Amino acid sequence: MNVLVINCGSSSLKYQLIDSLKEEVLAKGLCERIGIEGSQIVYQKAGGEKETTVAPMPTHTEAIGMVLDALQNEKTGVIKSLDEIGAVGHRIVHGGEKFAESTVITDEVIEAIKECNELAPLHNPANLIGIDACREHMPGTPMVAVFDTAFHQTMPEKAYLYGLPYEYYEKYGVRRYGFHGTSHNYVSHRMAEFLGKNIEDMKIIVCHLGNGASVSAVMNGKCVDTSMGLTPLEGLIMGTRSGDIDPAIVEFIAKKENLDIDGVMDVLNKKSGVAGMSGISSDFRDLEAAEEEGNEAAIRTLRAYEYRVAKYIGAYTAAMNGVDAIAFTAGVGENGPVTRTGVCSYLGYLGVKIDEEANQRRGADNLISTKDSKVAVCVIPTNEELAIARETLRLVR
Ligand code: ADP
Repeated sequence: MNVLVINCGSSSLKYQLIDSLKEEVLAKGLCERIGIEGSQIVYQKAGGEKETTVAPMPTHTEAIGMVLDALQNEKTGVIKSLDEIGAVGHRIVHGGEKFAESTVITDEVIEAIKECNELAPLHNPANLIGIDACREHMPGTPMVAVFDTAFHQTMPEKAYLYGLPYEYYEKYGVRRYGFHGTSHNYVSHRMAEFLGKNIEDMKIIVCHLGNGASVSAVMNGKCVDTSMGLTPLEGLIMGTRSGDIDPAIVEFIAKKENLDIDGVMDVLNKKSGVAGMSGISSDFRDLEAAEEEGNEAAIRTLRAYEYRVAKYIGAYTAAMNGVDAIAFTAGVGENGPVTRTGVCSYLGYLGVKIDEEANQRRGADNLISTKDSKVAVCVIPTNEELAIARETLRLVR
């Protein structure tokens, strides 16, 4: 069965058409600048060249229409009719406490997702627009919602409660939810499989280091803690997000810089992280190049980044009373041997030993620790789209 995977943002839409039985991507791409002048669709058939077409897309409905047209295009398309799309899987950012698992989309589910909008005001409404647009074009096709938060719903109370008045949790749902759940779930399971072990008997730490970054502790196949919180701002230092800071800094900066709360939040979300610390870039390729030239700002930024990841690994080792395996994934985790070495340099006390030759290898699943390392350290490429396609297939079958 072919599954169309949709990841809808406020002005963008990423898509992949996946043959979910063969687990092959047939075509993929994205629509950009939806609702803004100069909107365009990028389409790439498996093994083909990327094609970019500029076309007006006032709303997501036109964008989905363009995607479906591209998939059925006589020359470069991969299907003859929409009947060849068996189901649609939607990435939904926030499922609150309502969704501990993926679910088939019904009117009731849509209402329940809307009730989570307050927790992710930038993301959830856009995800819902994507569902509406797909329903317009493919009214009879089953659809599934896969939530970024769902995998983390197994966290115990002690991990998800903040040191705040309990009534904020009761009245407003203020607690740790965690994000990137689809990736943490996929990578932890893949890691166990790769090592030939049963995830039920394992203590795993997954470091998802992309533009957004988070760490999770997965014990016996269940998430017991994760570094992102009520929102994706908490935890690691990220591309442009601050991660953990003293909450009193919000007031301090507001007064010093004469900013209101939105202004400070903008700084914490978009102008901080490695981009703000270095003044160079949010992209690790630029930072690593600057480090090679001896750039002081790049050096101190990268060291602070690695140190923060290592601190979370220490914390989660304590949370699980041990760790058997550590996985690195996402853009930086998969492509940044220097960052991986930097993080692991703090883990000698756990008996972690890195095989530098293996660490330099790129590509597929890869064991980067030595044979006598007490903890297996691996690079496991994440694949959120495939995970969404699998969930979709499981639920609509
Ligand atoms: P997201 O999905 O959160 O947007 P990704 O997981 O794609 O992010 O990660 C993007 C980041 O990965 C880039 O900003 C860059 O810092 C890093 N990255 C990508 N390729 C490389 C590379 N070859 N070397 C080092 N870092 C890389």
